[in-house]
Amino acid sequence: MKILITGGAGFIGSHLCEFYIKQGMEVWCIDNLLTGNEKNISPFLKDPNFHFLKEDITKFDFSKISVNFDIIFHLSSPASPPDYFNFPIETLWVNSIGTEVCLKLTQKYNAKFLFSSTSEVYGDPLVSPQKEDYWGNVNSIGLRSVYDEGKRYGEAITMAYHRKFNLNTHLIRIFNTYGPNMRLNDGRVIPNFIYQSLTSQPFTIYGDGKQTRSFCYIDDLIAGITKLIQTDYNLPVNLGNPDEFTILELAEKLKSILKKEIPIKFLPPIPDDPRKRKPDISLAKKLLKWEPGISLQDGLQKTIESLKIQMEAK
Ligand code: UDP
Repeated sequence: MKILITGGAGFIGSHLCEFYIKQGMEVWCIDNLLTGNEKNISPFLKDPNFHFLKEDITKFDFSKISVNFDIIFHLSSPASPPDYFNFPIETLWVNSIGTEVCLKLTQKYNAKFLFSSTSEVYGDPLVSPQKEDYWGNVNSIGLRSVYDEGKRYGEAITMAYHRKFNLNTHLIRIFNTYGPNMRLNDGRVIPNFIYQSLTSQPFTIYGDGKQTRSFCYIDDLIAGITKLIQTDYNLPVNLGNPDEFTILELAEKLKSILKKEIPIKFLPPIPDDPRKRKPDISLAKKLLKWEPGISLQDGLQKTIESLKIQMEAK
């Protein structure tokens, strides 16, 4: 089985590479390292089943390698708000042009395709928890729109290729996920807080900290993705952990795990920052017999250990 993983050197992509390498599959990782990190894939570089293309998916000429892929996972995209604020055009292109490149390959090789969409397609949701049939509340010209609308376009073109050419496509909407291989300067709340706690800085909280998020540990997400690709289900599926916390609660949880008193520095809110986010995962439970099993407490502990090692190696 030949598997292409775009964004394979990123946080989620590198875990997916690892999953399939462990299964003995031939894994092709394409990543231009805009926000990915070669260190995430360095353990696999010597594996004869692993191939790394340091290339931009929107520009790469796949006829150069001519591999008959069986599965294509399109994961490449800046995913942290500071990253997509810094790379707005790249974010739009990788989710639009990049998705179409993958769909054309899917068609050529009669492969299976999975597009990694996001809970951001729900925008600042007016209903909670969010179910797949909620259409969202997105500001199409706001700062976050490059990511939100890029992902919405990615979903739309995936469905168009599915309907017009009968491709075997899959859509996942990933809710906040965390774990090893996140960059320490990624900007997302969990690596930020862990980095701040390890460097004796205060936790930075944007706004009042009463906004909520539901955090899924990476291993749970990978289990969901790899189950979904085995089905013939084409409509979007939420993948995330439904346990919801305010950002203030997350800060308290980390303080208690680290057994440390850490001050909080409140900063101005980020424009259009969703107030609530919690997945309804009843579809994934029924379809995939899947639900997250790793608590925030356990996941944070594992993440702290791995980010500590990452910091020491720097
Ligand atoms: N956040 C925060 N402090 C930080 C980083 C993030 O208060 O240092 C907040 C952010 O405003 C948002 C939530 O934490 O409300 C989750 O942010 P993150 O960037 O992790 O992901 P998002 O869910 O916004 O994509």
